[in-house]
Amino acid sequence: MKETRKGMLLVISGPSGAGKGTLVSRLLDQDPSFRFSVSVTTRRKRDNEIEDVHYHFISEAEYDKLLGEDAFIEHATVHGHRYGTLKSEVYARMEQGQNVLLDIDPQGARAVMEKEPSCVSVFILPPSYHELKVRLHTRNTEREEEISRRLQNARGEIEQMGRYRYLVVNDNLELAFDQLMAIVRAEKQNSVRYFPVVEE
Ligand code: 5GP
Repeated sequence: MKETRKGMLLVISGPSGAGKGTLVSRLLDQDPSFRFSVSVTTRRKRDNEIEDVHYHFISEAEYDKLLGEDAFIEHATVHGHRYGTLKSEVYARMEQGQNVLLDIDPQGARAVMEKEPSCVSVFILPPSYHELKVRLHTRNTEREEEISRRLQNARGEIEQMGRYRYLVVNDNLELAFDQLMAIVRAEKQNSVRYFPVVEE
């Protein structure tokens, strides 16, 4: 059967420590129809990160220039650093039928949901606030003060979960990943982006 598809814009968000990073990299590993939208950020590169793969690491001045050029679909300050999703990472690919994945914070997710109502938004939840705290501590990448701030932010973000089309609780990684893939499989058949041609 002949068919055409429009690309899916998959927006994955959640509080830090919910485990969205792991789910996102698994999805990208297992489903080659998705391209990761590489954001720009003004924060410093971490040792394990690769330029232009994880982020485009840019200066404050470069960021301001992009803002002036209206290059972003959304942009936000997250934990004291600036991040932005480039239009050039998203729209051309979607028109070619490619699926695009955004891993962005809840402020950014909200902006994209408003601009692109047919996007597929998924919010990743931790099983409990206690577990979130444990995960932020074991990750050991932030100081105590920063952890408290992130936990506080998480409460506000979780209160807004009803804005997303789908919710996934990441208690058990296998189960959470299965649920995420079920969402993706179903949304690939959504009539807003899937156009099979029934021939004579
Ligand atoms: P990290 O600096 O630890 O990689 O990411 C911090 C937070 O910023 C994460 O929640 C991540 O999803 C979010 N983030 C990454 N890129 C973007 C972006 O382009 N826009 C927004 N709004 N958030 C982003």
